[in-house]
Amino acid sequence: MPKSKFVFVTGGVTSSLGKGIISASLAKLLQSRGYTVTIQKFDPYINVDPGTMNPYEHGECYVTNDGAETDLDLGHYERFLNSATSQANNVTTGRIYKTVIENERRGEYLGKTVQVIPHITNEIKRRMMMLSETGQYDVIITELGGTVGDIESLPYIEAVRQLRWELGQDAICIIHLTLIPYLKAAKELKTKPTQHSVKDLQELGVQPDILVCRTEHKLNADIRKKIALFCNVNQNAVIESIDADTIYDVPLLMLKEKLDKVTLARLKLPLRNEPELEAWKDFILRVKHPNNEITIGLVGKYVELQDAYKSIIESFVHAGAENDCKVNIKTIQSELLTPENVKEKLGEMDGVLVAPGFGNRGIEGKIEAIHYLRTHNVPFFGICLGMQMAVIEFARNVLNLKNANSTEMNTSTTDPVIDLMEGQKEVSQKGGTMRLGAYQCELKKGSKSIIAYGKNKINERHRHRYEYNNAYETAFEKAGMVATGKNPETNLVEIVEIPKHRWFVGVQYHPELKSTVENPHPLFVKFVKACMDYSADKP
Ligand code: GLN
Repeated sequence: MPKSKFVFVTGGVTSSLGKGIISASLAKLLQSRGYTVTIQKFDPYINVDPGTMNPYEHGECYVTNDGAETDLDLGHYERFLNSATSQANNVTTGRIYKTVIENERRGEYLGKTVQVIPHITNEIKRRMMMLSETGQYDVIITELGGTVGDIESLPYIEAVRQLRWELGQDAICIIHLTLIPYLKAAKELKTKPTQHSVKDLQELGVQPDILVCRTEHKLNADIRKKIALFCNVNQNAVIESIDADTIYDVPLLMLKEKLDKVTLARLKLPLRNEPELEAWKDFILRVKHPNNEITIGLVGKYVELQDAYKSIIESFVHAGAENDCKVNIKTIQSELLTPENVKEKLGEMDGVLVAPGFGNRGIEGKIEAIHYLRTHNVPFFGICLGMQMAVIEFARNVLNLKNANSTEMNTSTTDPVIDLMEGQKEVSQKGGTMRLGAYQCELKKGSKSIIAYGKNKINERHRHRYEYNNAYETAFEKAGMVATGKNPETNLVEIVEIPKHRWFVGVQYHPELKSTVENPHPLFVKFVKACMDYSADKP
């Protein structure tokens, strides 16, 4: 029997209720009471991982230290808990089926007919329990993606039903997140959709222990009583989750509603100490009442969907709080930037971040933006594709290599300043074939990066195929763009800077994936500071 206890979080009525934030908030509260907690996400889609999905479909793809391309909810888990997740924390239906089919091909089922029950559900259960085998966690919270009632969620709900019987009632707590809509015309909160979605779960043999009810208005005692009565839960297990100003308020709102206490009671675990949340509260205070304000442009091609740049946006919240500054983000569609309008679009900004991305669309606009920022001494931060475009801009306009490009955009360019590594050239499959996960990097003395990090060896996460082409390094350096961070094993260039510029830093890796409430990322902190200084100096 595992020593961990398990919490499952399901969702009903509609998608986008914020299961990830509720899971992360509960985890935060349990952690602050002295429990070791981790969160995992099970996604019912058939992609093996979200790596091949367009950000418009699924938001940002979050990358773990061990190089897994995962759901963006894992980012919330890391930002709230300040602890790293891994491949084991994100499982999809595609991955489950892949394992089962591979087992079948190896003959491991000894001639049996392979079926959803028990083979798929057994594999789901094995993965649900996997993190408990490390012995590291008191509580494992599993968020089930999708909405109860979806065909594709059925095997997951069935796996939870079986686990409750196999592990015993006290080992498992099921939290169902649901919506209580407000009907303006009737001036009433409505409980019927919740009743129906709980009934859906019950029909599948699963009785939720706790209902977290998303609502725009407070739930009074009568409503709570009614929900409890119709849904078979205790009245203190009807938890109100009212719309919050910031996601970082949610742990405190859940504390007020006693979500942690009710969960621990259900799992027969002691309350231990009162939650230690002083630093968290202090952070929120700084987020809500900053003394300074700046506006940073975010140039990218997925700007219509904020989730596409989730970690970057959250990193600015952390770095803003650290600098006592509100950071307004103005998104700018890179496709619409031209030499004629770049001044008008970027002129008011206190600094600009050029975002990561793939493919040709919008890259000339990114280059245009970087040209403006470099020549007008405006703080610039380039991430991944943003860094690569800074290298191309410099090559074209300073080194005068007019055809300079990345071989991702033009395979036959005469000046491939960004190119594939030798080993990558043979690869034709798309999924999981990039440079992924954490790599070491050594920083150059006197660089802006080493000052920001306060140390010379760092470890950052990657997700890209193309690299800075070291054949051009000397020419770049002579002309004023310096490679200030390198991988000590492969010599790959990870950071470029222009020392003469007030703040011009491009990084091949993704710093945004490591920023947390407790540990805001040093490059974001220093970039925000540079933007504040520029804002004060600006004519
Ligand atoms: N498309 C670029 C590459 O594959 C950059 C990727 C990114 O920005 N994440 O190298």
